[in-house]
Amino acid sequence: MSCPGIVHCGAGYVSLTWKRSKFSVSEDGSINVKGAYFDTINTIRAWCSTSTLDEALAECQKYSELLSKTVPGSDVWRVNHARGETVTVNEKTMAILRLAQEVSEASGGAFNIAVGPAVELWHFTDGMAVLPDAKALADAVARADFTKIRLEENAIRVPPETLIDLGGIAKGYIADRIADFLRERGVKSAMLNFGGNVVTVGNKPDGSSWKVGLQNPLGRRGEDFWAFVESRDSTVVTSGIYERGFELNGQWYHHILDPRTGWPVQNNLLAVTACAKSSMLADALTTAMFVLGPAEGSQLAEKFDVDVVFLEKNNRVTYTEGLNITFVG
Ligand code: ADP
Ligand code: MG
Repeated sequence: MSCPGIVHCGAGYVSLTWKRSKFSVSEDGSINVKGAYFDTINTIRAWCSTSTLDEALAECQKYSELLSKTVPGSDVWRVNHARGETVTVNEKTMAILRLAQEVSEASGGAFNIAVGPAVELWHFTDGMAVLPDAKALADAVARADFTKIRLEENAIRVPPETLIDLGGIAKGYIADRIADFLRERGVKSAMLNFGGNVVTVGNKPDGSSWKVGLQNPLGRRGEDFWAFVESRDSTVVTSGIYERGFELNGQWYHHILDPRTGWPVQNNLLAVTACAKSSMLADALTTAMFVLGPAEGSQLAEKFDVDVVFLEKNNRVTYTEGLNITFVG
């Protein structure tokens, strides 16, 4: 069963060979389009002209060129190829880096953009499905010291042995910016889902709040939800173990790493969802909270005044009081 008016909020990753879909028009009059950016599929559903959506996708392309670690010449690419030199970067990149460092400190390093060398060893995005060499992983973790990253007004210096990875925060920032772009174009109602970062613009056209479905990790993608949260000009972000990773010898290896070990976090969690105003903040926090688990994670959410729900493997659910959540079944 598909659910009109409801957006799927899973983590989302697919190997992509196409750049964007054609426009489709829903029965409710919204225009829908998908774009393949940031290693994931990004959907926009909006009540606006197709030319506005064309412009929004062009913006996505620009952000991809600015922030992708694999696009030569991007800010992240230049930082990772600077061999310890200071690199001047765009103010947008600076905004992400500042918040990344703030969340790293507040989470005691559970969020850590210096995990880059460890992420590289896992090859999550090229489908290789091999375990990294334990010594290489230990060495990568030893180089993942976020406190050695120096930020200046419009520049960053990273030790030569370290690589930065903005995979845990950049999509949130971009989703915020594209939602703002649509608001500036006068769009009153839209919903974006950038690989698990859902942002809503206004209400639905009938004045009701958006209801964001939280994906049942074991169910069919986009169809089977375990809960819904309401959203209006806000964001609902999920970090989960079930979308990106690989299976080897009966074991599932997912892409959220414990920066202390370099191994996928091994706790009881299936997913963490945060509801907030800023998708960038919620993105960084869900990754950090996944590493920390429900008890410490909830304290981190409180520090940043963000609502959160944790789903564990035994179906245990922990959530903060302010969350407007409805459970299914
Ligand atoms: P998704 O990208 O599916 O939305 P997350 O926001 O949780 O999921 O980000 C996971 C990505 O962030 C990984 O693919 C990797 O690039 C990076 N990453 C993994 N572990 C950490 C960590 N502990 N701190 C910061 N970034 C991380
Ligand atoms: Mg994240």
